[in-house]
Amino acid sequence: MGIEFRHVVKRFENGTEALSDVSIAIPTGSMTFLTGHSGAGKTTFLNLLLRLDSPTRGSVLVNDVDIAGIKRRHLPVYRRHLGVVFQDGQLLDGRSIFDNVALPLHVAGTRARDMARRVRAALGSVDLLAKARLLPAQLSAGERQRVVIARAVVNRPKILLADEPTGNLDPTLSRTIIRLFRRFHDVGVTVVVASHDTELVGTMGSRVVELDHGRIVGQGGTSADG
Ligand code: ADP
Repeated sequence: MGIEFRHVVKRFENGTEALSDVSIAIPTGSMTFLTGHSGAGKTTFLNLLLRLDSPTRGSVLVNDVDIAGIKRRHLPVYRRHLGVVFQDGQLLDGRSIFDNVALPLHVAGTRARDMARRVRAALGSVDLLAKARLLPAQLSAGERQRVVIARAVVNRPKILLADEPTGNLDPTLSRTIIRLFRRFHDVGVTVVVASHDTELVGTMGSRVVELDHGRIVGQGGTSADG
């Protein structure tokens, strides 16, 4: 699924303009880093895409459809196409890794026999199948963030969004996490990763879109595949 922002303005009630005339096309299956200082508008960008918020002006298109037109009752189905990873994505402490990853499938009403297969596939994709029976507290911080990614992809989303997914990890673990996102990009998922960590982003060879005070100030790529 491709993403397009057309002249998007987001102004909050207190007058803060988080996005100012943002236009960008993110092609299906591409991998894009959204960078910029804290407060640049990255989270607002992702929230508009998830329709957790609506633009003040302009439009957000997913698969060439303006998402403002999606009826409220159809939002859960729309959002199921989008996998989301936040910094320190919360896991349920009392549940196994397997159960944590299975959660979105319960919500979606997936049949039991499909569930186990899908959870195993998701855990396999982040190399954590062997830890399925453990509790979150028994995993390292980097492993827990990989579980969060598995949970985000268990519904096989067409778009994977991440907001500072490496926020609390050291540079080596951060690169491991970004490589995982790249794996999904390699199999055709559209990936958008918001990160203020320009050093990390610069080394990972993808399209980089830089926001500054709500405006796109730079778009570039360090490789042809972005
Ligand atoms: P980033 O993710 O790049 O750090 P954000 O999108 O979170 O940036 O924030 C962009 C700007 O919008 C900031 O100035 C922030 O304070 C402001 N902002 C975000 N959410 C709200 C809100 N709900 N009400 C008012 N201002 C907000």
